[in-house]
Amino acid sequence: MSSVFDDLVGQEHVIDILQSAAVASRNGAETQEMTHTWLFTGPPGSGRSSAAVAFAQALICPKNGCGICSDCKAAKTSGHPDVELIRTEGLSIKVEEIRELLTRVAWAPSLGSWRVVVMEDADRLTESAANALLKAIEEPGTRTVWLLCAPTLHDVLPTIRSRCRHLQLCTPSIAAVTQVLINRDQISPEMAQFAARVSQGHIGRARFLATNETARSNRKVIMQLPMKLGSLASALEAAQTLVEIATTEANTASETRDEVEIEKIQEAYGKGATGRGMSTGGSKAIKELEKEQKSRATRMVRDSIDGALLDLATFYRDVMMVQSGSPGTLINSDLFREVETYSASAPASSSIKKLDAIMETRSHLEMNSAPLATCEALMCRLAQT
Ligand SMILES: [Zn+2]
Repeated sequence: MSSVFDDLVGQEHVIDILQSAAVASRNGAETQEMTHTWLFTGPPGSGRSSAAVAFAQALICPKNGCGICSDCKAAKTSGHPDVELIRTEGLSIKVEEIRELLTRVAWAPSLGSWRVVVMEDADRLTESAANALLKAIEEPGTRTVWLLCAPTLHDVLPTIRSRCRHLQLCTPSIAAVTQVLINRDQISPEMAQFAARVSQGHIGRARFLATNETARSNRKVIMQLPMKLGSLASALEAAQTLVEIATTEANTASETRDEVEIEKIQEAYGKGATGRGMSTGGSKAIKELEKEQKSRATRMVRDSIDGALLDLATFYRDVMMVQSGSPGTLINSDLFREVETYSASAPASSSIKKLDAIMETRSHLEMNSAPLATCEALMCRLAQT
């Protein structure tokens, strides 16, 4: 029998808990298994939001998450009256947004026993937004189930996380990701293996790489950068290459999405139907959408740069493996020769420093430092032996 949990790769322990909670929730009361606030944490790509959405479906579906009934389908796409999927496009979730949300979910569920809110980026709540949410979570006898997602426990205010049942998702094994790419996405075994290995268990990234030739050739360019850091000038050039590639990749993805969204609003406000353009309401809606899109684009560029830095880190990690005498487990086995030459030319102590430099850069970018200047500083550090 199919189930909404089928797509969660390598998370059996979490699935067991969610399935019994969904069964226990049938009577609409809180039990030991069923509580009304949950926190899903896990590294990027582990599928924390997919797990939360699957659980929302299981709570709404009369068969505990069959995946095929109309309730399951509607819940997955924000089309169910009792399910709210909160996906943040910007860098933070503000208190006004939480207040609006609380007004929307204040009603009793319209169809089933529960109203479910999935918040994909609970780590982006501002402090005042988190406090507003806290009040709602503390309310006794509520029929609203809160499914919060964040990378780690520390990303959520202690007052909130202490009220949540915590579920930790793990990075799926490379073998498990390979198998999903072959079975679900019909990708050739060789390509699936490559994509799963270099994406280190990040299933979305693995799928993107396996199905996108431009992404693969971009990755190739990034992975050659360590070999090109001979001088200050070349370090600055490498930084520019990295930022340019990451920006183009992010912008290509957002542009297609932006256009579709704008067209939808134009249609909704009757552009084309009267031949006289849109009403003032329509222009206002488009202006608001464009503001949101701009903020999302900034975030996508940052995420994309972060992905490139993680790729780069795997190179120095491999260098360290070779330097420590265990080259059997290389992530970038396709770059074996480059890794070997590099390992012989630099002292082992410098590889750790370089990895540290990359991780530091990631946290600087996370705190909104200027991308190009930050990457330039990094490349200069990577150029040192
Ligand atoms: Zn169903």
